[in-house]
Amino acid sequence: MSNDEKLLQFLYACPVGLIEFDASGRITMINPHAMQHLLPLGGPAASENFFTAMENCAPELRSIAGSYTSDHGTIRGSHRIFVDLAEKRRKGRPQVLSCSLVKLGAERFMATLSDISDEVAREHRLRQADTWFSALIDGINDYGVIVVSGDLTVISANRSFSRQTGRSFEQVIGRSVGDILLTPDADDPGMDSVEDQFCMAARDGWNLYEGWERRANGERYWCQRLIVVRDEDEKAGDSTFSVILRDVPPRESDSGDLITMLTRDDLTGASNRMYFHKTLRREKLRWQSRKDPLSLVMLDLDHFKAINDRFGHPGGDAVLCAVARTALAMKPANAVFARLGGEEFALLLPGRGLQEASRIASDLCDAIARTPIEAAQGKITVTASLGCAELGEVQGSTDDLIELADSRLYHVKRTGRNRVLATTP
Ligand code: GH3
Ligand code: MG
Ligand code: MG
Repeated sequence: MSNDEKLLQFLYACPVGLIEFDASGRITMINPHAMQHLLPLGGPAASENFFTAMENCAPELRSIAGSYTSDHGTIRGSHRIFVDLAEKRRKGRPQVLSCSLVKLGAERFMATLSDISDEVAREHRLRQADTWFSALIDGINDYGVIVVSGDLTVISANRSFSRQTGRSFEQVIGRSVGDILLTPDADDPGMDSVEDQFCMAARDGWNLYEGWERRANGERYWCQRLIVVRDEDEKAGDSTFSVILRDVPPRESDSGDLITMLTRDDLTGASNRMYFHKTLRREKLRWQSRKDPLSLVMLDLDHFKAINDRFGHPGGDAVLCAVARTALAMKPANAVFARLGGEEFALLLPGRGLQEASRIASDLCDAIARTPIEAAQGKITVTASLGCAELGEVQGSTDDLIELADSRLYHVKRTGRNRVLATTP
């Protein structure tokens, strides 16, 4: 067998995705395993350009590869990519890919791709178990127990629960657990709601959460809560839960870095796609239960390709960062501004109706157009097109909400750009 044949055989059998491409991302070699990962991400065009294929879930790869200045070497090892396309299929667990980038020579790059979803899920649970056990050493101030029915009503509570939370039995028995335990708020990135945590416990057998809890007198304390399934009523298919609450010394800073890493977009510091979708799902539940309005603004920069062509990718990147800075500074405190991919952003506005969303979007549109951006080749000005929609307009479907805001955005694109549209013409 010739060396070429041996190499081909290796490429076919290799359990890791291998892609060779040039500086523009054009693929010169790809093995079947890599194809399996790229096709669902970028469709048939994915086999042509690596950066285009990864644009939606990992737009940062382009700038990571582009900013590497040596002739050859490892650019990035085990870069984690969260693919939320597959999230629905896997029942709430996102697919995670690990990507390593190597520069083989002038204009030649190699990427490896492998699916590490199972490892990440295991790691996540191990880390949870780790915090639980380490608190045994750090010390527990107190722990309380409540029992919760399948419809999330509190059935019983022990004495130390009352002592820990300052709530009497009468104040908790028969109430919904969502009213008793603190729901992490929208500013608490990456957290699941109390109801989500019970869903996960019903699915996995247990769920562990760590964060601030509040006593009846308003005092905050750091609390670890473990939800475990007690037994299964086979007829109703409903689980009963025990919830153990531990009052422990705070460990906030430990999880802070990790949360930032998992929820932020590398380049711009805006929230990432995964966090955006997670918040959207959570806010939808809030919209259903409290009937608070919820609005979405989609934003796409105008003629961004021309900016890249004229000022180079670093110039384009500087524009993306500046737009994110402007939006993050202007947005309401409970809003989420996220980069969905490329030069596409979204602003999620809990508690705001369409009219208010439209006003906030107009202010943002003006501010972007008004703010020149300093780059190596001079000042860059950029404009954006924006579309707004409200969840009430689409009877609560988040997919339709995104589609409606997008369709308004594209109407702006077709009719001159640099404007906001909040109605369907
Ligand atoms: P339109 O006004 O119709 O939106 O035109 P456009 O040129 O903005 O839109 P198009 O979608 O054709 O181009 C988007 C470009 O954004 C293509 C891609 O090369 C570039 N891009 C995507 N991600 C990045 C990135 O991270 N950095 C930089 N500098 N450019 C990026
Ligand atoms: Mg654009
Ligand atoms: Mg675009």
